[in-house]
Amino acid sequence: MTPEHTVLGIETSCDETAAAVVRRRADGGVEVLSSVVASQVAEHAPFGGVVPEIAARAHVETIEAIVERALGEAGVSYGGLTGVAATAGPGLVGGVMVGLSFGKAVALARDLPLVAVNHLEGHAVSARLGAERIDYPFLLLLVSGGHCQLLHVAGVGEARRIGSTIDDAAGEAFDKIAKTLGLPYPGGPALEALAEGGDATRFTLPRMLLGRKDCDFSFSGLKTAAARLAEGLTTEAERRDLAAAVQKAIAGQLAEKSDRAMKAQVQAHPKGARRFVVAGGVAANRAVRARLQAVAEMNGFSFSAPPLAYCTDNAAMIALAGAERLAAGLSDTLDAVARPRWPLDEAAAAASPTHLPGRKGAKA
Ligand code: AMP
Ligand code: MG
Repeated sequence: MTPEHTVLGIETSCDETAAAVVRRRADGGVEVLSSVVASQVAEHAPFGGVVPEIAARAHVETIEAIVERALGEAGVSYGGLTGVAATAGPGLVGGVMVGLSFGKAVALARDLPLVAVNHLEGHAVSARLGAERIDYPFLLLLVSGGHCQLLHVAGVGEARRIGSTIDDAAGEAFDKIAKTLGLPYPGGPALEALAEGGDATRFTLPRMLLGRKDCDFSFSGLKTAAARLAEGLTTEAERRDLAAAVQKAIAGQLAEKSDRAMKAQVQAHPKGARRFVVAGGVAANRAVRARLQAVAEMNGFSFSAPPLAYCTDNAAMIALAGAERLAAGLSDTLDAVARPRWPLDEAAAAASPTHLPGRKGAKA
């Protein structure tokens, strides 16, 4: 049995300033005491994407109030905390430095252990913020605005990459295609709403990386094809149908590669655990979730996705990742640095630098 941990989490890697308090009980059970997310969507919307300098300034202006609110809503004072966890990367470095510095200040002033959390590790544990208890190991599909990868997660800090995108992330594809359809930023949720009731069969879009036997992804050809089709649209019904076709194509590719990863895992470890977890902003898409759930069921895998509020960036997942590290006896020093790039599987990233894993930049 490890001791109970009550951790303040701080997330500032992109365009959300977030703070949360999460309790990880001695038996491993998880309780989210508060989770506050201040979105900067209004500040970035006029530019059609995230502007790093504006993001960093907005984090500076709001971080203190957001942390105070998270503690207030949790009914926990600084004295009631057992640790502080702040995102240290990957992300827009100006923003990351704001949150990490704030976390260091709290840790120093209150003599608390600091955990410098990899944002991707936060997404990896986010499904555990729901009612369900998910044990390691599991196969993880991480699909967000900056990332699209399949990973085998064996435990805290133990992730092996199985595949990743060779160009855009899935969320980036949603956002960019949404823009060509004239939808507002952020495009993913807007495209999902437009696709409702659309006929996904009216337009034919290319299937990417056909014939390749790996678990890598590619969305750039789809993006180009959709942009070309979007130019010729005249009616609202056509826009709806193209949105539906795009959503189907993205969900289809995610399902196809996840299916391949599951089959490979079963072949390599016939008696191994069969758990599949999807996380990241794109996991909020209902069509994507449904396709992935069907593929998991077909392969005899359990299917877990975070509650919708914990799919996109939030600090509860950072607090939990920190609590899990503390429970495993891991923490960081006040020298921890902000890392704009920080792949979860560093060995795979070094071996295949063209994949640029762990990069999270402006999602224009
Ligand atoms: P994250 O990077 O984890 O904060 O996730 C944000 C990304 O998820 C953005 O690219 C969004 O467009 C995308 N996203 C959020 N909700 C949806 C949705 N319902 N459908 C498709 N993409 C979405
Ligand atoms: Mg994210």
